[in-house]
Amino acid sequence: MADPHKLFADKVAHAYRRSGATFIHGSIVSAALSGFLLTELALLPVGLWFAFLLLTLGYHCYLGKRLLLGEKRALSGVNTRALTFFAGLAGLGWGVAAGFLPFVSANLQLLLILTLTAVAAASLPRMSALPVIHAAFMAGLFVPILIGLVTVFGVDRWMMVAVLLLIWAGLTDEARKAHLDLIEIYSTQQTLAAEAVHDKLTGIANRRSFDITFEREWLHAQRLAVPISLIMIDVDYFKKYNDRYGHQAGDECLARVAKALDGGAQRSSDLVARYGGEEFVVLLFHTTRDDGLALAEVLRRAVETLGIEHQENVGGRVTVSLGGATCVPARQESPETLLRAADTALYQAKAAGRNQIVWSSGGGLPNSAPVTR
Ligand code: GH3
Ligand code: MG
Ligand code: MG
Repeated sequence: MADPHKLFADKVAHAYRRSGATFIHGSIVSAALSGFLLTELALLPVGLWFAFLLLTLGYHCYLGKRLLLGEKRALSGVNTRALTFFAGLAGLGWGVAAGFLPFVSANLQLLLILTLTAVAAASLPRMSALPVIHAAFMAGLFVPILIGLVTVFGVDRWMMVAVLLLIWAGLTDEARKAHLDLIEIYSTQQTLAAEAVHDKLTGIANRRSFDITFEREWLHAQRLAVPISLIMIDVDYFKKYNDRYGHQAGDECLARVAKALDGGAQRSSDLVARYGGEEFVVLLFHTTRDDGLALAEVLRRAVETLGIEHQENVGGRVTVSLGGATCVPARQESPETLLRAADTALYQAKAAGRNQIVWSSGGGLPNSAPVTR
């Protein structure tokens, strides 16, 4: 299910990302049209129309850009009602050119109607992302043309009116379909983006996400010369759990353990990820050995207190073993050093009887004796 706020932001981005180019294109078309109109009309009315169009078109594009920026930062300061109003006004900026119809030759009348219809069609691919705004723009553009045609030429031009109405209806229907397609594309995109960083079974961050974050935070800690801690977590006798309760129950158990671990690490900078199989990893930025150890105990207890039955395990319930390591990353060290140290500590926790924590700073890191809890 797509996040509606994100979806809206995507649609706004679709509609207004290149609105500067839309404005320039609109200016060129209207300048050309003004040039042709000037061959038969005075400068004042044509100049006034040109200025009105640039103002309305420009302000609509500017509002769209502002909404786009607002969407990117936060979902605040958004006034789509104002945007709809100014989209209608921008459409009207084009549409009022129909006022020239009675005063120009048949040639220019045709050119005017053709240009305005083309402008309406050109607005479809981008503006269809926001149906209300598209509808306002179309109404602003088509209503004056239709009124102009009917009042100026009467029933003589009913065929033209009918065709324009059909074009309007056709464009609106195309916009509706384009909008539905767009929602589908952006929803799929959101799902894929979420799947790329989340583990499907447990819903927490996946290995790929961990690898990327770890690499980044390692460099970050190196730059700031602050400690970074890592906890490797492995479910005890999980093969036996699967053998006794079945794979399906095993999956459910993993999801619950993941949730407990994720809930235990509360700081926003903490990352809990599924490392693979029944192994998890917790990355703690700017965290000392003592704080890391304290959190590891919270996590150990969180899993134990879930009370998931596991008759093959000591104590009859599901437990985890944890191996932690802390270091201030040195220039020549790679993140694998810390990973290996945590893994060695985990191995020691298993060997020492499981359901416990071993904290090590060994494995090439500034050394001190392992701590067992
Ligand atoms: P230890 O206490 O030494 O960690 O013993 P263990 O049995 O947990 O360790 P081992 O590595 O031998 O077995 C891990 C088991 O985890 C084997 C595998 O079937 C199971 N496992 C790995 N991934 C999944 C999964 O996604 N779902 C389920 N149900 N089981 C999984
Ligand atoms: Mg394992
Ligand atoms: Mg295990």
